[in-house]
Amino acid sequence: MNRAVCYFCGEMKVGAFVQCPNCGLYPEEDDHLILSLIMTDRYLDKTKMEAIGKDIKEGHFPTLTEETRQQFLPHLEEFKRRPVAKRDIVTNKPKK
Ligand SMILES: [Zn+2]
Repeated sequence: MNRAVCYFCGEMKVGAFVQCPNCGLYPEEDDHLILSLIMTDRYLDKTKMEAIGKDIKEGHFPTLTEETRQQFLPHLEEFKRRPVAKRDIVTNKPKK
C-alpha cells in the first residue's frame, strides 16, 4: 500500500483510494482519483508530498490540468482493473 496525501485536507494516509482517516473524504470522481493517485509515493518523493500537503492545509488545492488528466487516466484505468485496487475501492466505500 502506498503512502498518499489526501487531496482535500493534506494529511498523509495509507493508500490512494481509501477514505481519509482525518477528514473522512473518499475520492470517488475520476479527477479526484487521479489526484489521489498522483499524490502517492509512487510518483512523488516524501519532500514533495509534504510540500503539497502543506499547500493544501493552507488552502491551495491541487488542480488537475487536462494534460495531466490525459496522462494519468490510463494509469487510473489500470489501477481500477487490479483486483486489489478494486477491492480497496469497494470495501472502503462508506455506506450511504
Ligand atoms: Zn483528508
